[in-house]
Amino acid sequence: MSDDKQQPATRIVSAGRRKAWTQGIVNTPVWRASTILFDTVADLRQATRTPNDGLYYGRRGTPTQWSLAEALTELEPGAAGTMLYPSGVAAIAGALLSVLKPGDELLMVDSVYEPTRAFCRNILAPYGITTRYYDPLVGAGIADLLAENTRAIFLESPGSLTMEVQDIPAIVAVAKARGIVTLLDNTWATPLLFPAIEKGIDLTILACTKYIVGHSDVMMGSVTSGPEHWEALRRTAQSHGQCVGPDDAWLAARGLRTLAVRLRAHEQSALAVARWLEVQPEVARILHPAMPDCPGHTIWERDFNGSSGLFSFVLKGGDDAARARFIDGLELFGIGFSWGGYESLALPIDPATIRSATQWKAEGPMVRINIGLEDPADLIADLDAGLKRLHGNAAEPA
Ligand SMILES: *Cc1c(COP(=O)(O)O)cnc(C)c1O
Repeated sequence: MSDDKQQPATRIVSAGRRKAWTQGIVNTPVWRASTILFDTVADLRQATRTPNDGLYYGRRGTPTQWSLAEALTELEPGAAGTMLYPSGVAAIAGALLSVLKPGDELLMVDSVYEPTRAFCRNILAPYGITTRYYDPLVGAGIADLLAENTRAIFLESPGSLTMEVQDIPAIVAVAKARGIVTLLDNTWATPLLFPAIEKGIDLTILACTKYIVGHSDVMMGSVTSGPEHWEALRRTAQSHGQCVGPDDAWLAARGLRTLAVRLRAHEQSALAVARWLEVQPEVARILHPAMPDCPGHTIWERDFNGSSGLFSFVLKGGDDAARARFIDGLELFGIGFSWGGYESLALPIDPATIRSATQWKAEGPMVRINIGLEDPADLIADLDAGLKRLHGNAAEPA
């Protein structure tokens, strides 16, 4: 167990490590189980009465999953508990279904991760839950959008692809005054850069697949809740039969221990690359919360403890083929979905087609990059060669 008064980098080392679960081993071992055996009928009945307390049945987890969930809770001062899910999208779905019922309206940020939008369209809408999209920069103006049946506000900050930083304290203040639940997709910042529960968010969601796991080899999601919504969150997850495998939980817990140092390295390298890109003639704009062109940059300065390794940039003119030449020839950047791992990635992005409440305009094609743990000087050299390919007259790389 860790101590709220310690710095997060200290807490992350001891969080979730109860002696009863570790048996003195540093890392909580992998406890694999479906069936749990009881000594007597009386013991089985006792366990049935308190299924959230101790070993009961594999779906309710073993010390391996409890240890990870407790560690994530300890990183969010003020939180009551954490549920684990087999992916980030499953966590988003579980959080939304724990607070919404037919007839409710959900306010959803227009810069949200596209699969979250798909969940609202494909699952919530047929159940009679309507979703209305709002401008990520709305701030306290969210008050004007509230309807009689608005039950929840979903935030993601910075937004997926376009990186707008939301005024979370302003939105939380409006929501609290009206008894509306707030949910935040906090995957980019993690609790280390933005302790969401302490800042007044009710339910905070992580795609643990990204920075918690950190090594691109496990899918997982989590929802950490303040006291008010914890029982409903747990009941909903258990009713859906949500659980994660102990081997995956063990890998995620192992990743978590190094989160603070990895994030610092990602931050420093991403800033070095972003500052270099910013002054290249082929680049129109950098969308990185720590840089002045990013919408909501001053809010990031006010509210966040730092930045991570994912950002986007806009090319100055050019077409899809030029962008593909730039990306295809990169040697150190993989081409693929996800992010938050130790390896750098580059992704062509086209956010204008996804939006519904706002319009996205850019000077040219866009690229999102995940800065991994390589030396930034090598990444910059790779990008430099890539920008030269944009002009279409560079030789193919050997
Ligand atoms: C990747 C991602 C998710 C979904 O996580 P999965 O584990 O891939 O399902 C959710 N939100 C954000 C912001 C993401 O980047």
